[in-house]
Amino acid sequence: MTAKIIDGKKIADKILSELKSKIKNSKQKPGLALVLVGNNPASEIYVNFKEKTCKEVGFYCERFNLDKNISELDLLKLINDLNQKPNLHGILVQLPLPKHINEHLITNSILPHKDVDGFTSLSLGNLMSENAILAPATARAVLHLIESAGTGIEGKNAVVIGRSNIVGKPVAMMLLEKNATVTICHSRTKNPAEHTRKADILVVAVGKPRLIKKDMVKEGAVVIDVGINRADGKIVGDVDFENVKEVAGFITPVPGGVGPMTIAMLMQNTLTAMELAKRI
Ligand code: NAP
Repeated sequence: MTAKIIDGKKIADKILSELKSKIKNSKQKPGLALVLVGNNPASEIYVNFKEKTCKEVGFYCERFNLDKNISELDLLKLINDLNQKPNLHGILVQLPLPKHINEHLITNSILPHKDVDGFTSLSLGNLMSENAILAPATARAVLHLIESAGTGIEGKNAVVIGRSNIVGKPVAMMLLEKNATVTICHSRTKNPAEHTRKADILVVAVGKPRLIKKDMVKEGAVVIDVGINRADGKIVGDVDFENVKEVAGFITPVPGGVGPMTIAMLMQNTLTAMELAKRI
């Protein structure tokens, strides 16, 4: 069997072009504040992509490049200002932040209806109570890509590898909400292959190049690779793509899978945030 490639870039482009047409003639443009602290090269690339996409779809975007030594208080003050600005519907603080800044505190200083990353405690709590409005963009991207395979989620065995608050846990919650039977594996899981081999849906969000090998994957599985790693001078995922595609039914590539879809979901969340602002 050779897996069908789930083309995240193509699906994302379609969503973005729909968003572009939707707001083309509207009086109000969704506005996104992008906050980048320091000069982590990967973070700069992600923020560049987000800014570029905003411009392409016709959103309003303000970018704040802050010194890596900015104090926690000054960052909080900036977010407080952005919270008050009516033309900025969404606020995204690119993670990770420098060590002297408390990420949890900063994330939670964003007003819930402007939390387009879906990382505040309230947004994550809403996910638990099946009441998510602004769910984390990467988790939404993963769900969208699984659904695009058309094999269904209800009743399927889903295995999520990774339990971060921003990817693994939200993905697991969203799969559970769609009635999958969900197993979460992490760094202390004994013999993860025992679980992954039973997975109809396998989501890998670890950050270790080509961790998932062909013999760990069930024939015909839907495999979603969230990982972004640099190895052998190129960007690779957490899945050994070339070999796993021989057994999987569907698989996302890296790059070109979850990455572009995450940005499309962020743009959708920003539009949702603009709609929410009208109701407040
Ligand atoms: P993270 O916070 O570092 O979490 C990694 C998770 O993987 C942890 O739960 C860890 O377990 C688990 N883990 C580590 N080694 C493992 C192993 N050998 N076997 C099983 N589990 C293991 O990372 P993250 O923020 O979730 O991101 C994961 C990956 O996705 C990264 O490569 C990141 O760059 C990428 N990412 C991509 C996008 C996108 O848009 N495409 C968005 C976000 C993240 P413990 O909890 O036990 O430590």
